[in-house]
Amino acid sequence: MKADPAIQAQLLDVAELDARIAQLTHQLKSLPEIAALAALADEESERTNRMRDAKIRVDDLTKEQKKADADVEQVKTRRERDRSRLEQGVITDPKQIQAMTHELESLERRIGVLEDEELEVMEMLEAAQMELDRAEAEVADSVSRREELEARRAEKSVSIERELDGARRRRAEAVNGVDAPLLALYDRLHESRGIGAAALRARTCGGCQLNLNAGDLAVLAKAPADEVLRCPECDRILVRTSESGI
Ligand SMILES: [Zn+2]
Repeated sequence: MKADPAIQAQLLDVAELDARIAQLTHQLKSLPEIAALAALADEESERTNRMRDAKIRVDDLTKEQKKADADVEQVKTRRERDRSRLEQGVITDPKQIQAMTHELESLERRIGVLEDEELEVMEMLEAAQMELDRAEAEVADSVSRREELEARRAEKSVSIERELDGARRRRAEAVNGVDAPLLALYDRLHESRGIGAAALRARTCGGCQLNLNAGDLAVLAKAPADEVLRCPECDRILVRTSESGI
């Protein structure tokens, strides 16, 4: 394959830009914030689940407390009614009076039991509410850390992407004038070897970093300047430079 030496030299620029593009693409994918965000996502979902469970418990206990309040109120109402009937002297039959007195005593005991239960529910509700408050604070903490990381990742991404855009634009300019078959060869080598074209400097291929032997160098030295050379070791396009040593 033939190509003007200036065009061959252009391939070195393309290779350099491709290396920069690969480096920036890797940087973009491996920002430390990405791993931190993944770890944080697990933590946040765990905390959100805990908060949801705590909320359910608070709701259940709130209902239970209302019911306990209502139960106490109901028995107290009954007690008041019985008490006022006794006080008003409506009932005169001693047996009935005795029965009602017994009922009042039993209502009193019942109120005591219900009030104990009510207190127990209130204590549980208080503890559950504290747990919910704590869970909510933890979720808020995760959310604020996530937002901070997201902002930092976005900021870094934007600057890397801006650099990537620039490198891609320069690459598009660098391939200007390179024939399609040569570019296709370069692209194929770039695809399979990471670097498609390398400079020959001090008898060393810049692609595989190997020192070329005297026999290979003699063949390369004889090739016309517009001949597209390949490294005998790694097969990459080998571009002669003023420092080739041949
Ligand atoms: Zn090589």
